[in-house]
Amino acid sequence: MAKEIAAVITLFGGSGDLAQRKLYPALFGLYQRGVLKDHFAVIGTARRPWTDEYYRDIVKTAVAGDSIESTAQASAFASHFYYQSHDVTDAAHYITLKELAAQLDEKYAAGGNRLFYMAMAPNFFATIASHLKSEALLTATGFNRLIIEKPFGHDYASAKALNDSITATFDEKQIYRIDHYLGKEMAQSLLALRFGNPLLRTVWNKDYIQNIQITLAEAVGVEERAGYYETSGALRDMVQNHVMQLLAYLTMDEPAALTADAVHTVKARAFDQLHRYTEAEVATNFVRGQYTTATIDGEAIRGYRDEDGVAQDSMTETFVAGKITTTAPNFAGVPIYVRTGKRLTRKSTQLTVTFKPQANSLFGVTAADTLTIYVEPSQGFSLQLNGQKLGQTNVLAPAELAFRHDPAAAKSAPEAYERLINDVLHGDQTNFNHWNELAQTWRFVDVILAAWAKDKTMPTYAAGTMGPQAAKDLLARDGAEWFWQPTRIQMAD
Ligand code: NAD
Repeated sequence: MAKEIAAVITLFGGSGDLAQRKLYPALFGLYQRGVLKDHFAVIGTARRPWTDEYYRDIVKTAVAGDSIESTAQASAFASHFYYQSHDVTDAAHYITLKELAAQLDEKYAAGGNRLFYMAMAPNFFATIASHLKSEALLTATGFNRLIIEKPFGHDYASAKALNDSITATFDEKQIYRIDHYLGKEMAQSLLALRFGNPLLRTVWNKDYIQNIQITLAEAVGVEERAGYYETSGALRDMVQNHVMQLLAYLTMDEPAALTADAVHTVKARAFDQLHRYTEAEVATNFVRGQYTTATIDGEAIRGYRDEDGVAQDSMTETFVAGKITTTAPNFAGVPIYVRTGKRLTRKSTQLTVTFKPQANSLFGVTAADTLTIYVEPSQGFSLQLNGQKLGQTNVLAPAELAFRHDPAAAKSAPEAYERLINDVLHGDQTNFNHWNELAQTWRFVDVILAAWAKDKTMPTYAAGTMGPQAAKDLLARDGAEWFWQPTRIQMAD
């Protein structure tokens, strides 16, 4: 059984979508594993005037399974939840919150431990942080930790301003900036794969790797999030954070130990060593696009500019592909191709490392060996090698060694948010973003945004395809192609 952690958790945005879909199930998972048990309470805050009973019903609905046992467990879990109607801009409300937290700390013997979770629109983060300080909600005994959701800023300047405001209240060691990709099973197992296998560890460098590819493909469109998306776009929404984090895990040096400090040291160095483009270089190294209407399986799909809440002349990109390089001695010259977008052919996050084909006097030019890591929806990896064609001596044919986690076992493993909140409760910052890492990724992205702001052309792609032609040309120029193509026959992914 896991070690129990005591804490009073204050959740700003307790009635929100994230809380209901992700955070309550994550906390329930921790309750079922015994990390949260007798000594915890959750204060949910939001504007609506709810009662504790009403709030507990919401929590129960968010977590309950079908069995009588799980319904009873959900009720016991929900009894630790309290609701406080709260306007984040009203100082008096923080005094009430502070008193409630103190009462609950005593009731549940939480030892002064406080966890504050900002699950609200980012424009409130700074206000909340400053009130937590001015109304003295942090305790002198126990831990005080802050979990802050993405997006962390809109560009470098706004991210820095936000960071300055939260570091006025919390030390870096108390701040947990969430990137939920870092909670995913296969993202977390990249270290094991890279450094736990002599076979891969030996060849994981510029001498053997031809290129690295990162694809985060979504099949859905902008859905109900047009208001947010119009101010964000694929570069800010996916590249600055998730893509960059995966890139760092694929290219960083081996950490000296499996500790948060050691991992952050090599990760920060990986971001420092990225080649930052000039605005003039952006046009040849980054491609953007917007999806247009298409009929998929007989269904008419709207183009991005026809979605509700999207301007007819919107210049927000729903797709981005880019070529990134690094000056890291181990990877100098190795292209890292990244792409992400909405309304692509199929939902899949895949990372592929293509190894250099080597001159071979026996077989001539052979197909490249590749390693693909499947992050979602399936979880696992596969190695594509050259085998011999059945019954034909010395004729090569591609052969795939594939591993997938059993879907049932993967389903019962902790979900990303559960892992990450567990880390916070244990004070482990490994899978969270340090400010210096975010600063570097924003600096990288800001140049691309600045170049795009001056360019009035917006390439398009039909919904259901893998982006504009320019994304293919980007690799073709280097004599490469995207390894993952929906038409390529692979084990189900
Ligand atoms: P949401 O709009 O569903 O919920 C916002 C919450 O804030 C609600 O509880 C609302 O009552 C509360 N609120 C708004 N104004 C308030 C005020 N003045 N005073 C007090 N409470 C107020 O938003 P969400 O989708 O849950 O997202 C929350 C955060 O999580 C955002 O930063 C978002 O970017 C991030 N996030 C969400 C998801 C997701 O899947 N929903 C995924 C990743 C990140």
